[in-house]
Amino acid sequence: MTRSHDTVAPDVKTAVARLRDLFDASEVVVSFTGAGISTECGIPDFRSPGGIWTKMRPIDFSDFIASQAARDESWRRRFAMEAEFGRATPGRGHRALASLYRTGRSPGVVTQNIDNLHQASGVAPDHVVELHGNTTYALCLDCAARYELPWVKQRFDAEGGRAPSCPSCGGHIKTATVSFGQAMPEGPMRRAEEMTRACDLFLAIGSSLVVWPAAGFPLMAKRNGARLVIINREPTDFDDMADLVVREDIGAVLEPFITA
Ligand code: NAD
Ligand code: ZN
Repeated sequence: MTRSHDTVAPDVKTAVARLRDLFDASEVVVSFTGAGISTECGIPDFRSPGGIWTKMRPIDFSDFIASQAARDESWRRRFAMEAEFGRATPGRGHRALASLYRTGRSPGVVTQNIDNLHQASGVAPDHVVELHGNTTYALCLDCAARYELPWVKQRFDAEGGRAPSCPSCGGHIKTATVSFGQAMPEGPMRRAEEMTRACDLFLAIGSSLVVWPAAGFPLMAKRNGARLVIINREPTDFDDMADLVVREDIGAVLEPFITA
């Protein structure tokens, strides 16, 4: 039998029991989440069948900068997704991680998600490390002024679907997310690394672990001596090095850990 067979939980019940043992045996738990934790909240992930990328190609940062048409299209897509993002509330996975956070055993969550749902579940904004930013508000790329989405939408509609520029400096206004081709944010990268190195249990939840450098954190945790748990419906390239692999529904596995 290969090692990965030993570590893959055969069913939800076993997964829950083994997770409980790992929680009991550890002092500092850090979670690292991806789009899979939010699918039950109605926000599609990127790579599952029916995911966003099976429908459209992402707009590169350089295109956003270079072209008004790309900015218009980017905002058009964002407003089209508002029905999903705007209505979403935290799922069972978010609520379980917030419960763990409230016990004081978890300093916070490192996330690739941009949906603000960890904050909405009760994790203090300072303790949600967003590697790819946040799509629930916008920033001017030049002067960093913050704009709320209804403001952008009103301008966008008034100008017949044209992305607005910053009234104070003329810069491009973009959701506060990190696009492909855009630099990773320094502060969150540093904090994610600190948290990863400080934990003795690292949970990678709902991520295909293919986007770098974000996917480097589970590896970093493991190399630093932490135990690694991967909860994801599909296999990942890191499953062989994990101490526990759970290929079940995230909500079903984490629901028993919700305390409020
Ligand atoms: P991904 O789409 O690459 O992978 C998601 C993984 O979650 C898949 O492997 C899928 O099998 C699994 N999954 C989906 N629902 C699940 C469930 N209920 N239970 C168990 N597993 C489930 O997502 P990623 O790794 O986060 O990378 C995509 C990038 O896209 C991220 O960096 C993020 O910035 C962005 N994104 C964010 C959101 C969001 O904020 N909710 C949504 C889509 C994409
Ligand atoms: Zn500006």
